Amino acid sequence: MADIARIGVIGAGQMGNGIAHVAAQAGITVVMLDVAQAALDKAQATIAKNMDRQVQKGTLQAADRDAALARISASTDHAAFGDCDLVIEAATENEALKTKILAALCPHLRADALIATNTSSIPITRLAAATDRPGRFVGMHFFNPVPLMKLVEVIRGLATEDATVQAVAGLATRMGKTVAYAADYPAFIVNRILLPMINEACFALQEGVGDVASIDTGMKLGCNHPMGPLELADFIGLDTCLSVLEVLHQGLGDPKYRPSPLLRKYVEAGWLGRKTGRGFYDHSVSPPKPTR
Ligand code: NAD
Repeated sequence: MADIARIGVIGAGQMGNGIAHVAAQAGITVVMLDVAQAALDKAQATIAKNMDRQVQKGTLQAADRDAALARISASTDHAAFGDCDLVIEAATENEALKTKILAALCPHLRADALIATNTSSIPITRLAAATDRPGRFVGMHFFNPVPLMKLVEVIRGLATEDATVQAVAGLATRMGKTVAYAADYPAFIVNRILLPMINEACFALQEGVGDVASIDTGMKLGCNHPMGPLELADFIGLDTCLSVLEVLHQGLGDPKYRPSPLLRKYVEAGWLGRKTGRGFYDHSVSPPKPTR
């Protein structure tokens, strides 16, 4: 296929609206889809607000913002994807839901259209099997927040064809991202390496090796990390951290990935990090205050 010029994005949540934002800014026409019009309205308002911020900072011209916003349309009907070169699925992380979405999507697509999924943890090969085109199905894993984070992991399922990998890698490059290629193993590359470090920080906290401030200060100043592991866990969401560790533990069968009981307890308490106001830090005060 020639260069990807028109894409669909399924799920207009934090990842979906970020993907739509960056794609539209790169000159690509975008159709966003969600279950309810309210979610689409909110996503379009978020994109406009984020682009306004870029204009204020001088990193985007007002005319380019207007042109980018005009490239984004929204629909609640899969039929809107009929002339898309690629559809990126970025709906809620739930395998049954994604399988259902993919099966409903395929009949509306051109035969040569590609499908990518932004899943963080579900096997690409298994999602590909829910489509009529496993060769033209690929993982395209963006990072949050999409406009700021430079990486896209491109994940090849068992059946993914070379041309599919090349097409989405080319798109990621045009979106200003750098590609890392991963095979279809649990949690791919970045989360496979990152989450065990966060988990180890939770074990260290649980065992009293250090308190929250000491662990985070240690890793920031001792390893030159921009954020400490517990601060980062709060940013990602402790429920998400736990679920990625469970995917690693189950998928690789190695006890070294067992989630820390303390992390599990925080999730059971509903202390999920920034999004609930409390995790390893109390986010109701500024700056956030360590809780242990
Ligand atoms: P989110 O909850 O912000 O957004 C999900 C959106 O999907 C919601 O707007 C929801 O209404 C929509 N949705 C649900 N069912 C749908 C359906 N049947 N059809 C269309 N839309 C539907 O979640 P998110 O953080 O944007 O995550 C989306 C995907 O991106 C997940 O697969 C997640 O694993 C992945 N991801 C998330 C991050 C992150 O840090 N948040 C990073 C990388 C990848």
